[in-house]
Amino acid sequence: MTILTVENLTVCFPGRRGTINAIEDVSLSVSAGEILGMVGESGAGKSMTGAAIIGLIEPPGRIAKGEIRLEGERIDNLRPEAMRRLRGRRIGAIFQDPLTSLNPVLTVGEQLIETIQTHLRLPRSQARERAIDWLRRVGIPAPEARIDTYPHQYSGGMRQRVVIALALCAEPQLVIADEPTTALDVSVQAQIIALLRKLARETGVAVILVTHDMGVIAETADRVAVMYAGRIVEIGEVADVLTAPKHPYTSGLMASIPRIGERPETLPQIEGAMPRPHARPEGCAFAPRCPHRMEICTRERPEPRGTLTRSVACHLTEEVPA
Ligand code: SF4
Ligand code: MG
Repeated sequence: MTILTVENLTVCFPGRRGTINAIEDVSLSVSAGEILGMVGESGAGKSMTGAAIIGLIEPPGRIAKGEIRLEGERIDNLRPEAMRRLRGRRIGAIFQDPLTSLNPVLTVGEQLIETIQTHLRLPRSQARERAIDWLRRVGIPAPEARIDTYPHQYSGGMRQRVVIALALCAEPQLVIADEPTTALDVSVQAQIIALLRKLARETGVAVILVTHDMGVIAETADRVAVMYAGRIVEIGEVADVLTAPKHPYTSGLMASIPRIGERPETLPQIEGAMPRPHARPEGCAFAPRCPHRMEICTRERPEPRGTLTRSVACHLTEEVPA
């Protein structure tokens, strides 16, 4: 079942030289229990896409175009108050730094119980049982005792587990996880990734996983959307995209999968840098770096061909990709 559809989403910001589109014509979908990875270099628009879906674009930035639907219902035009309610109840969030999601002066239990009570309207004793249950599910040892401790009493990895419990305890349909493992020790990253996978399967929540790390995508995601210069250049099943990438940028990313723990902000295997939003070339934004560049590429922008589940935006790909 499709949980989220995004169609032709464009987010703009006023800039010194006129309006700048941070992301342009982004279209994607995510189904129940599915993990959609969003990958690309720093500044490609992955986090911006997540922020737009969750209603957290800071003014003067705004959605200039497009539609976002949660279970068929438009959510891109909700009032701030309605969006705030939706964010707790139907869309959860997991960010890179667990401390941004946790309140340092409240116990872990108080935070879970309050979220459960607010959104599921359970009496306190039941909410507490539920909270202990969630701590157990995310792998916190001795949850009956740990529930009354504070976030600073947890390690980074354990804290991120608590954040995952907090994001899921209101039983949302969708979770946006933005670089959820980037701040963690290498040894802990794999555990958190495995946990996300397990919980997506168990709860049926749809997950958008934002990461710069193709290795994380390979381990976690069912499908992947590759972003470049504010656009999605390729979407497909992870197995297809990893073994037979269709877009030259995806091929370049594949060639530069970092070893776990490395955090390259650029791609040594692809020369040059991604253009800044105000300096994107006409035609294909990847053309200056593309080894397969043709004459048409600098003239005409390649539109995505295919469907919301498998598409490629490149002049090399004439037909709908298999
Ligand atoms: Fe390369 Fe042209 Fe495809 Fe762009 S459209 S990725 S420049 S071949
Ligand atoms: Mg980001």
